[in-house]
Amino acid sequence: MANPLFDALFAPLQGRQSAFLHLPDGAQISGQDFLDLALRSAAALAAAGVGPGDRVAMQAAKTPGALALYAGAVAAGAVFLPLNTAYTAPEVDYFLGNAAPKLLVCDPDKAAGLAPVAARHGARLMELDAAGQGSFADLVAAQMPDFTPVARDAGDLAALLYTSGTTGRSKGAMLSQQNLLSNAQTLLREWRFTADDVLLHALPIFHTHGLFVASNVMLLAGGSMIFLPGFDREAVLQMLPQVSTMMGVPTFYTRLLEDPRFTADLVAGMRLFISGSAPLLAETHRQFEARTGHRILERYGMTETNMNTSNPYEGDRRAGTVGPALPGVEVIVTDPATGAPLPQGETGMVEVRGANVFGGYWQMPEKTAEELRDTGFFITGDLGRFDADGYLTIVGRQKDLIITGGFNVYPKEVELILDDQPGVLESAVVGVPHPDFGEAVLAVLVPEPGMVPDLSAIEAALGESLARFKQPKGLELVAALPRNTMGKVQKTELRARFKDRFA
Ligand code: ATP
Ligand code: MG
Repeated sequence: MANPLFDALFAPLQGRQSAFLHLPDGAQISGQDFLDLALRSAAALAAAGVGPGDRVAMQAAKTPGALALYAGAVAAGAVFLPLNTAYTAPEVDYFLGNAAPKLLVCDPDKAAGLAPVAARHGARLMELDAAGQGSFADLVAAQMPDFTPVARDAGDLAALLYTSGTTGRSKGAMLSQQNLLSNAQTLLREWRFTADDVLLHALPIFHTHGLFVASNVMLLAGGSMIFLPGFDREAVLQMLPQVSTMMGVPTFYTRLLEDPRFTADLVAGMRLFISGSAPLLAETHRQFEARTGHRILERYGMTETNMNTSNPYEGDRRAGTVGPALPGVEVIVTDPATGAPLPQGETGMVEVRGANVFGGYWQMPEKTAEELRDTGFFITGDLGRFDADGYLTIVGRQKDLIITGGFNVYPKEVELILDDQPGVLESAVVGVPHPDFGEAVLAVLVPEPGMVPDLSAIEAALGESLARFKQPKGLELVAALPRNTMGKVQKTELRARFKDRFA
């Protein structure tokens, strides 16, 4: 009986004695050992009462056992639901209430707080700690590695992955086996992954980037991963000479560039650096190339769709763009008012269709109907435009668009100018309430370390390059932009912080 995702990703580990995971302490887990752990995890899930189609929630540290829980859930035909380890008990309460999982596997440190939450929603609670120990690990250890994977269809759900909650409440994206597998196959080919690759894995595994893009592609390739618990600059600098590729969020790359030990020599053996989850500044792209000789490959995706576009492996990787649509993925830009496709060069809503696109939001039929068209196109919520060569540039999120006195202002256009000003490290432009204009453009600036930007000079520069309605009505200096664990700027937080600025 077939289980397409299991058969493609995990079954090939059978008999593999070479390392699949390299751990920071030097320990290795072979392919066969990981497969055994995965099959025992599947048997443990069945023993804990988890059946096909049941949700299994996990809020646990990134360990081989946690990754094997994902694999075990796939084998057991369950729906894997990983949760950000930063979420508090009241936040987890929302996810359990929405998804009604049979089981929640959590860190023992959180068990006391989560026990009443799990009980309220009828989920059994088991523990898995950062050392791979706990009641769930004990149950896994008591099983035999002879579990027969449950038969699944390509359209059956494999994961319920919640969006990051950048623009509002997180939504549970229903991802089928086929959604995940088709995308991993495409990325494997497009990025030329092979069994020789060693990936530096410093991303969390509760998000699409670290779980599906990184882990699924490496499994499909038959390669191995240096599996770090998180991004630690020292550890990353130490491991870089041993790997061939790395996937990261932009902040990984800016933090590496801040360190003089990050040199071309250190990464001489690298084949590929990939970036995504948040915009990579063109400036970072250039600095990175100047320092290392590598042009970072930027791609664009999201929880609901996995990856949609990517700069090419061979060919021009254009800074500030996310590249052309991936093979098998249709990407169009449409008019926000009418939904009609726009001519090349015009900015509008980015919509995508393909085998990668999710089936809808779990228990949110209205949200699903708003964002998934009958034609199969998913309205991503991002604004973008294509250039003449088919490269997409993401201009920002539709919800961040500022409407001031009836005019549209795209924050990115203003941010790009601000970022170029002397003494400015980075910026975020948001709309805040204004008595006359409805919304006013507000610029939030982070100075370069040790610098004090000349605000009146910046205002003058903006006056020269932007129409008056686009010019910020105020400039604010802050030490750092609020970011989540994926390096996404939290504009909602900035809007709240400065909501009375013009009141
Ligand atoms: P929510 O949907 O709950 O508001 P979110 O959209 O941040 O949260 P994710 O699915 O984690 O949740 O993130 C996807 C979003 O990340 C994309 O819609 C896009 O806005 C942004 N993104 C991803 N990659 C890139 C990139 N290379 N450049 C610019 N933005 C990117
Ligand atoms: Mg989103």
